[in-house]
Amino acid sequence: MNSIPTDSWHEGDALIIKRVDAIALSIPLKKPVIMAGVRLDISYNLLVRVEAKNGLVGWGEASVAPTMTGDLLPGMVSAVNDHLAPLVLGQNALHRAVLAQRICHGLHHNTGAKCALEAGIADLVGRHLKVGLSDLYGGALRDSITAMYLLGNPRVEDDIAETQAKKKEGYRFFKLKVGIKNPLEEAQAAVQIRQAVGPEVLLCADANMGMDFRSARIFLENTRAADLLFLEQPLRDDDFDGMVALARLSPIGLNADESVSNVAAVIAMARAGSIQGANLKTIKMGGVGATVHAMSVCAALGLNINLACKVAETSVGAATIIHLGCVAPNVNWGVSITNHYLVDDIVKTPIVIDNGQMRCPRGMGHGVEVDEAKVERYRIRA
Ligand SMILES: [Mg+2]
Repeated sequence: MNSIPTDSWHEGDALIIKRVDAIALSIPLKKPVIMAGVRLDISYNLLVRVEAKNGLVGWGEASVAPTMTGDLLPGMVSAVNDHLAPLVLGQNALHRAVLAQRICHGLHHNTGAKCALEAGIADLVGRHLKVGLSDLYGGALRDSITAMYLLGNPRVEDDIAETQAKKKEGYRFFKLKVGIKNPLEEAQAAVQIRQAVGPEVLLCADANMGMDFRSARIFLENTRAADLLFLEQPLRDDDFDGMVALARLSPIGLNADESVSNVAAVIAMARAGSIQGANLKTIKMGGVGATVHAMSVCAALGLNINLACKVAETSVGAATIIHLGCVAPNVNWGVSITNHYLVDDIVKTPIVIDNGQMRCPRGMGHGVEVDEAKVERYRIRA
């Protein structure tokens, strides 16, 4: 493990971490979100508040993800309070790369907790240096990105109506949640949506591991007229051979999400020829810096990148993923934020999607200002 450089210029400008708070949040969703095997009515998120001796505060966030990272709120709070915070308390946040390594190696798995703490430190450093996250991580290639809208209604008529309404609002990129019903029925629904919305919008599908090989083959064979950009995670996360076999017969590229919880998995799947893209989430990779690293690896492998918040993170998580989307070299497979699924947000000016576009927040750090009164309103008290 690397040690803090002793002769660093940072010593004269120390940003000492004085306090770390792991805050459990519960915010209701506007309407239930249904995906393979899961129905969500409330979002449970970990918020980490990192305070420096000079009074500056940084914030990081991670959603629970029982069927993705396995992270649950009590464990995430404990991971930060009992294992990760002691690794960074009293340390100079400007050594964020070393602190990120300590966080990464200080505990096995627990990528959500690691992410929230590391993102909080990155936000703190950005505010101290008076730069945005995208400047901290290589610089923005663009200042706005196209938003991908998630569709997951029980009835195709409602998906079509929602798609048409969102198209009028300016959305041009839709992800259909599948792997829930009969694959032929889902394939026909995808074709119906394509026929209803026209050829100019981008449409893709995410099965969240909800298909077996046969179902996935039926879905792929019957969605040619839907002109899907890709199918995401049709099979179980550990079915690497199944993904290779499916890729050989698929007319479209496959995207990996639940299967790629680290960079090694991305490389292995790309080498095996099973994927043309990877869905990167900060909660899987374990932080902002780790996600930037994964983005570079994807670019080197020629993979498309899909960046996403888990359902549903607040504007803190949304702002972070937008900064990453502006830095990513090949974010061709969509960026989705999820704060608009929540009945309320915890920042003073929530992130909005305007005409299907998300502008990179202009402020320092992740660029949104947390409203601590709102945090108290949604805090889960033990
Ligand atoms: Mg997914």
